Amino acid sequence: MTKSFGYAAQSKTSELEPFSFERREVGADDVLIDVEYCGICHSDIHQVRDEWGGSIYPMVPGHEIVGRVAEVGANVTKVKVGDYAGVGCMVDSCGECTYCKSDIEQFCEKGAALTYNSTYMDRVTPTYGGYSTNIVVPESFTLKINDSENLAAVAPLLCAGITTYSPIRRFGVKEGSKVGIVGLGGLGHMGVKFAVAMGADVTVFSTSPSKEEDAKKLGAHHFVVSKDPEQMKAQASQFDFILDTVSASHDLNAYLQCLKYNGAMVLVGIPEKPAEVLAPLLVMQQRNLTGSAIGGIAETQEMLDFCAEKGIVSDIELIGVDYLKEAYERTVKADVRYRFVIDIATLKAKEAQN
Ligand code: NAP
Ligand code: ZN
Repeated sequence: MTKSFGYAAQSKTSELEPFSFERREVGADDVLIDVEYCGICHSDIHQVRDEWGGSIYPMVPGHEIVGRVAEVGANVTKVKVGDYAGVGCMVDSCGECTYCKSDIEQFCEKGAALTYNSTYMDRVTPTYGGYSTNIVVPESFTLKINDSENLAAVAPLLCAGITTYSPIRRFGVKEGSKVGIVGLGGLGHMGVKFAVAMGADVTVFSTSPSKEEDAKKLGAHHFVVSKDPEQMKAQASQFDFILDTVSASHDLNAYLQCLKYNGAMVLVGIPEKPAEVLAPLLVMQQRNLTGSAIGGIAETQEMLDFCAEKGIVSDIELIGVDYLKEAYERTVKADVRYRFVIDIATLKAKEAQN
């Protein structure tokens, strides 16, 4: 077995605490990654607190993982010892169903093995995420990192990056598209960067007026304070595409009315409670409301390569493990600018003290 040390929640009400555990031995198709940085996604908080139900404890969160390859199995050719590598939201899938064969493993018919709060495909062994010193992943779920200069700022691409890149590409956002990004947090700020990179005219909808300057620095062309009904009314029927990244309950109708005829609003945020949708807003302008889940491994690699080529990384606040509690509190208060990333060196220092 492979010894690992991480931070885990023991229940939905407990704080993250040091946790020693074991990962499987490195098999012939596996890669052992010595974790260097792990981003904090709002999904970590939802799941630690069991806001979506069915959480499995102890839970070591984290699915925005980058580090160095420390060991590879005999069959591995994608990476070698010493390379930088990443792990996103999935660590395995059946590999045989239509969806796996179509490179959309996130929709695996058997249910993909998620990086944490899940089980491996044996449906027994729990998975533990990246708030930890190392991780063992099959080669096929390992991502190659080409931008090793900004490793900490690359980490959030593994979830926030792919989750926004995928729908922006799928809905054909291009030069001249009128795009709205709702919520300027971890996902939202990546959504702005990608939509701007595709040449779109980008509007940020935010509840935080103080984020206007940042939004413009990120490349957004317009900023709308979503709490101001007058500003919202002025956006009616303007948008081709709206990406909703909001983590808490909010009024979807206020954004649906902003779509043009046949425009699309894609939900990536997953609030705890259901939302009400006014049917006429969809019917009368034939507007589309749908969702999007991360992205497949091949598309994640495409996104990482796109980011390396364009110089796109996340805007981060690098923190030590002692700051986890504050980081969660600040994220929930929409006070993250714009992704917390854990420096796993601070975790390794804790392990040495233990
Ligand atoms: P985050 O960094 O906390 O950003 C969420 C943003 O939403 C906040 O910064 C804030 O932006 C806005 N917001 C927060 N509370 C709000 C409220 N009560 N009303 C209106 N706006 C509010 O979170 P994240 O990591 O980007 O994740 C966002 C959501 O996406 C989470 O629900 C997460 O679980 C989900 N997610 C989904 C996928 C997927 O595959 N679909 C993948 C990753 C994450 P402003 O200050 O600008 O208003
Ligand atoms: Zn995530």
